[in-house]
Amino acid sequence: MSDDLKVKVLYVSAELFPLLKTGGLADVSAALPPALAAQGADVRLLLPAFPSVQAGVTPSGPALPLPAGRDVHHHHHTATHTAWPGWVHSLPAGLGPLAHTADGTAPWLQAGHITASGQPVWLLHAPGLYEQGQHPYHDDNGHAWANSAARFAWLGWAAALLGLGLDSAWTPDVVHGHDWHTGLGLAYLHHLGAHAHLPRPATVFTIHNLAYQGVFGPDVRTPLGLPATLFHMHGLEYHGNVSFMKAGLVFSDAITTVSPTYAREITRPEQGCGLDGVLRHRQPVLHGILNGVDDTVWNPATDPLVQPGYSADDLSGKAQAKARLQQRMGLQARPGALLCCVVSRLTSQKGLHLLPEVVDDLVASGGQLAVLGTGDQAIVQALQEAQRRHPDSVALHVGYDEALAHQLIGGADMILVPSQFEPCGLTQLYGLRYGTLPLVRAVGGLADTVTDCTLENIDDGSATGVVFGELSAWGLRTALRRALALHRRPADWQTVQRNAMRQHFDWASAARAYLGIYRNLLARPLHTRPGSLSN
Ligand code: ADP
Repeated sequence: MSDDLKVKVLYVSAELFPLLKTGGLADVSAALPPALAAQGADVRLLLPAFPSVQAGVTPSGPALPLPAGRDVHHHHHTATHTAWPGWVHSLPAGLGPLAHTADGTAPWLQAGHITASGQPVWLLHAPGLYEQGQHPYHDDNGHAWANSAARFAWLGWAAALLGLGLDSAWTPDVVHGHDWHTGLGLAYLHHLGAHAHLPRPATVFTIHNLAYQGVFGPDVRTPLGLPATLFHMHGLEYHGNVSFMKAGLVFSDAITTVSPTYAREITRPEQGCGLDGVLRHRQPVLHGILNGVDDTVWNPATDPLVQPGYSADDLSGKAQAKARLQQRMGLQARPGALLCCVVSRLTSQKGLHLLPEVVDDLVASGGQLAVLGTGDQAIVQALQEAQRRHPDSVALHVGYDEALAHQLIGGADMILVPSQFEPCGLTQLYGLRYGTLPLVRAVGGLADTVTDCTLENIDDGSATGVVFGELSAWGLRTALRRALALHRRPADWQTVQRNAMRQHFDWASAARAYLGIYRNLLARPLHTRPGSLSN
């Protein structure tokens, strides 16, 4: 660790709220670095310069040219490269052509800070890689970008270079990568560190969703400069392909995921997405740390999108938010109806293929449903049909809308999260905070954060929502019947609501847990760190 005892952390992510968000990863990347900094860590972000990210960053320091991976034979004749330390020249060649434009513009790192928050950041510019389209992972038709592997190999490579001292004024003690987009960085770091006999930083890899793995055909090996010493069963090879996720799992010193239950689930075949064997092997260094709620964004008392605000002591503002929401979504103004909402990617991961099957029963029992989301066309169509059948009671807004998400979570009585699997889940945490009772399936972070409203749990003040087990229309329907029954008992409903609003999932606790992991790794000499399977 560095002399000044402030742990220097390079936080590597593809997404950052509010600049670029496709899911919970963006929320975490906005909240965790400041929470770590508040506890004394020196954190810098490393982000690809996607257009919306670049627009939110103010340059504030030097730009570092990135030596592109080049043919080792070549550089001996290229005088301009002599400024780079020797280990850079030993990089596996082949990445360069992917990120160089036709006119030879090379990638570079721009130092800056997030304009809105002041957070220090390195922006990775790679001409031709990050400018295309709105979405970081796929085109408008939902097809993964053809250059996906290169996009995130570059991110990883930049992380590895910074980790090994590219910026001599700020060399991180810890490189902390998030999801498959950063996995290759830990492999490069491992490989380059060993190759150059350099001390390398400790590495932590966080799984936000194991289902997205970044698997590419073996033909990417050469262009991405992945030597045989990395490409094998105990490395980043996955059934003959290159897996960025597996690279992160194998070549990191510690692995975390976003809830204790998910940390256990992914070591078993049902939820292991084909990597449960790797994760069982790495179980001694696998930790589950729950995400928190960013109080500056999600707080019913201060939320500008839900005014007048409300609290557990005075819920009158919530009744007004409900009336406004019914009006905005075109639902019948019925103060007494159980108004359920969904704010989600509309996918079977979220269990939302079950929703169309139970809508008619919910409506027949006097309930209402308001959905905000994008995703599977089949789910969208089935919900549109439900809306046509029940225009007064079912409303659907297809799209991504941050403001409407706040209005739904503020105004609804209940938020439905019947996920098939759920690493942590954030919307149930927002629901708790807003007194919008979560109805969840008992998996992953949902199981860790919501307590079922059984009689005894209501009695002892621990009930915070409705929890069910079976992933089926029957399971969801039964849970909704229990929700309706609780809602017909206003005093009990309010008790559960107040319990829910008293829960605190804060980023300070999460940051303490991450810092504990960093310190633990840094307390050991490099050669005794857990390291990879291939040590
Ligand atoms: P995941 O990351 O699997 O999509 P999470 O619950 O961890 O699920 O995070 C989802 C985040 O995205 C939450 O902040 C949620 O409010 C937000 N979100 C999801 N869909 C939409 C949408 N259509 N409009 C606005 N926000 C959305």
